[in-house]
Amino acid sequence: MILTINCGSSSLKYQLYTSDLSGVVGKGIVSRIGEACPYIEHRAGGRKIRQDVEAADHRMALRVAMESLLHPEWGAIKDVSAIEAVGHRAVHGGDIFVESVLVTDDVIRQLEQCTPLAPLHNPLNLHGIHEARRLLPGIPQVVVFDTSFHQGMPAQAYVYALPYRYYAEHKIRRYGFHGTSCRFVSGRAAEVLERPLQELRMVICHLGNGVTIDAVAGGRSVDTSMGFGTFSGTMMGTRSGDFDPGLIFYLNRTLNMSLGDIEATCYKESGLLGVSGVSNDMREVVEHAIAGNHRCSLAIDMFVYMIKKYIGGYAAAMGGLDALVFTAGIGENSPYIRARICGGLGFLGIEVDDLANDAVDGACAIISPRTASAATMVVPTDEEKMIALDTVHLTAGCGDHSRRSAQRVEAAAG
Ligand code: AMP
Repeated sequence: MILTINCGSSSLKYQLYTSDLSGVVGKGIVSRIGEACPYIEHRAGGRKIRQDVEAADHRMALRVAMESLLHPEWGAIKDVSAIEAVGHRAVHGGDIFVESVLVTDDVIRQLEQCTPLAPLHNPLNLHGIHEARRLLPGIPQVVVFDTSFHQGMPAQAYVYALPYRYYAEHKIRRYGFHGTSCRFVSGRAAEVLERPLQELRMVICHLGNGVTIDAVAGGRSVDTSMGFGTFSGTMMGTRSGDFDPGLIFYLNRTLNMSLGDIEATCYKESGLLGVSGVSNDMREVVEHAIAGNHRCSLAIDMFVYMIKKYIGGYAAAMGGLDALVFTAGIGENSPYIRARICGGLGFLGIEVDDLANDAVDGACAIISPRTASAATMVVPTDEEKMIALDTVHLTAGCGDHSRRSAQRVEAAAG
């Protein structure tokens, strides 16, 4: 079986796949790691449990997850030997990692070098890797980076118009994030359209609490809305997205805000929450807008408008558009926001069939009429599955178990 591990800021998600990746035999999340009252939610064999646990850090959280997977009553496996390979998510691979890699001591050292680029996230990912190596010695491990899908962007898309030495000496550039999601979704979209990925120009709208708009041409990310960090692009749940950087100097000099205050304001108090004054959750913002709250209406108008501008810009950058793809929490679940974003984009070949849009039920769906020149689609993202797929492919040469696993995935995929 293949285990995936995703260490987030205060949570650890895990998922155990059958070796052909056709099913999930156990999964869960340890939440509130390092905070008061951490707990685990675990599912396996038709059982669902929620328990308070001790998880002062991500290493302890992974031990708790493994205990649940091995538990005699609600576990998924009897022995760790059932696990053939482990796949980890890492947030930042800098410009070192252009694709997923097998974990070695060298890879860990290089990942440590990337830590200054993601000081809050990469150390947690490293904790997960170290602990998994300790708990599962000899089992091959793979690391999959949120940034690597964007490493093929042309320089014109990733170099900032600062003095060039900042890029050359300090690696200050656009990196982009949500790459694992965008890679999975663009591949699935091509499958659903039954067209070769290499032929397609797509804009992926990953609309969750964080938002990425990604231009994908020929299966490669050619431009992306997030930048050096996870802040730029369109407005998000609590992040402002793009604004004039001159404002940072103004807030500092004129309103006497410290850099720390400005950072906290832009990351945690802005976006849908900051404009609406109600919530960072689109469901609540829409509810209040319908009830007449004009700041909630403005927040939605801004959210939609910023995304439209990216879609138009990326269609221009790619010289056309074959598919517009919605994914993540808002993209998958809000027909209203999808319809608002697509409204007025007929000049790009984007049209929405209202019945098809309203009928989306958690599966992949084409929501444009057949006559539209660009396909508009909903594709549920599955970062864990992408991590598991890379894990199987990269460990195929590592031993009998993993080689057989790769053969089974290929057989299951036909
Ligand atoms: P994610 O980061 O992909 O888990 O997405 C989380 C966000 O999706 C939440 O904060 C909500 O704003 C949004 N969301 C989930 N369900 C819906 C829905 N039915 N309508 C609008 N937004 C939704």
